[in-house]
Amino acid sequence: MDQTGVAAQTPKSPWGSVAPAAPACSLADVMSEQLAKQLDDENNEFPTLTDPAADLLSDEICDTTSDLMLAQMLQMQFDREFDDQLRREEKKFNGDSKVSVSFENYRMVHPYEDSDSSEDEVDWQDTKHDPYRAEKPHSTPRRGFTGKGKNITTKHDEVVCGRKNTARMDNFAPEVHVGDGLSMDLKLSNQVFNSLKQHCYSEQRRSAKLHEKKEHSTAEQAVDPRTRLLMYKLVNAGVLENINGCISTGKESVVFHANGGSLEEQPVPEEVVLKVFKTTLNEFKNRDRYIKDDYRFKDRFSKLNPRKIIRLWAEKEMHNLARMKKAGIPCPEVVLLRKHILVLTFIGKDHVPAPKLKDVKLNSEDMKNAFYQVLHLMQLLYQECNLVHADFSEYNMLWHEGKVWLIDVSQSVEPTHPHGLEFLFRDCKNVSTFFQKRGVSEAMSVYELFNAVSGLNIPIGSEDEAEFMAEIVALEKRNEDHIQKRGKKTFPVFCENDGPPKQPDSDD
Ligand code: ADP
Ligand code: MG
Repeated sequence: MDQTGVAAQTPKSPWGSVAPAAPACSLADVMSEQLAKQLDDENNEFPTLTDPAADLLSDEICDTTSDLMLAQMLQMQFDREFDDQLRREEKKFNGDSKVSVSFENYRMVHPYEDSDSSEDEVDWQDTKHDPYRAEKPHSTPRRGFTGKGKNITTKHDEVVCGRKNTARMDNFAPEVHVGDGLSMDLKLSNQVFNSLKQHCYSEQRRSAKLHEKKEHSTAEQAVDPRTRLLMYKLVNAGVLENINGCISTGKESVVFHANGGSLEEQPVPEEVVLKVFKTTLNEFKNRDRYIKDDYRFKDRFSKLNPRKIIRLWAEKEMHNLARMKKAGIPCPEVVLLRKHILVLTFIGKDHVPAPKLKDVKLNSEDMKNAFYQVLHLMQLLYQECNLVHADFSEYNMLWHEGKVWLIDVSQSVEPTHPHGLEFLFRDCKNVSTFFQKRGVSEAMSVYELFNAVSGLNIPIGSEDEAEFMAEIVALEKRNEDHIQKRGKKTFPVFCENDGPPKQPDSDD
């Protein structure tokens, strides 16, 4: 190294080289240096051990934490999108309906997590006070009030009462629609609640009435449940093999075709009919006089309820048919009477019922023959059976195997009935008119027929109906007086052999 350069920079001293003087420093600097050193020494007392593994770990944690965060943020974003979609679907599903289905349970983001959910959209379900949720009405203690001093709330308090009334709507019948009222904090005034209650009760009564009517009537085509049960029992007991179908639905009855089984080990005819008397009284109301004035049924009639009166009609038909059979009149035979159902032999063949006289096309010879048969029938009925049909017409006569068969005798009465002769006159009128219209020249006039059937000799004279009728009514009156004088009828109510034994009523 070249020394000359150095000598040139530092002035040469004849006493040799001089050490450079230490730079001057303040006490404060010294002090701070000392402090710094002291601090440094203190630090050095607890040296930081640099562990490479720990470093690695801490680095990893740092990295993983951010990944997790990222993942969570992504998941949150995804969940929010899912919830948005759910909200749209909920809205679409519910539309404007007052009653809505909440999709709340399917939401991914709990409302408090969802910082994005708009703040003005309050989730009422999570607030303590839900204005749309009915507050449970507080029960008032026995003493009749709660609270103290100024804050006393009595049981008559408007709000308490209102809420109680709303809650009470829960007791209304299920079919009464109370709307959203129950789920709201609705307060019904007593007046409103009472009129709602009144309306609810009257609606219930009305619907019960309608229901009753439906249940207890033999509807147009079908039969009511009770009758169905009876019919089912007949099949179940083997009395009938099966019930096939309806032959006729009249005003007072429904007639079914059925196949017979066996009854008390006796075979029931292969083909039978079930005459089911309709259980609505409407049609029978104007027929009361056929039964309540019939001395055979008079006493019982007044004591019976409407349903039993219907049975009386079936019973009456059974007794009348029994008398007719005894007298040799072609008519259905009674197989069984079960309440208001009468099982009769079938007039017809292979499921085809015999036609009514009004529907059958007969040649003049057969028609004339039919007329004489009918005349004979009427005489037998009146004189042998002591009956007036009271609904004798081409509708209640069937043409089967060249013979006239007489049916539908539930309303038939004895001639001593207060109006018996009037009924007979009407029957004669129907028969006479029918055969005359069908060109039967031998057909008698109504007056001749009446006398021929009854054996009464009411003068025919000028064939004036009013005059003839006056005679009939006079006769009826005389008969009534005679009965009155003799006192109450003392005949047995039914003849011994008036019909098959009835099955005991089990369920009344
Ligand atoms: P309603 O009182 O309803 O007139 P009916 O006894 O006259 O009752 O029967 C109605 C119809 O049912 C009759 O017109 C007839 O066609 C049919 N019918 C009734 N009884 C029988 C029977 N035993 N056999 C065949 N058909 C019958
Ligand atoms: Mg009839």
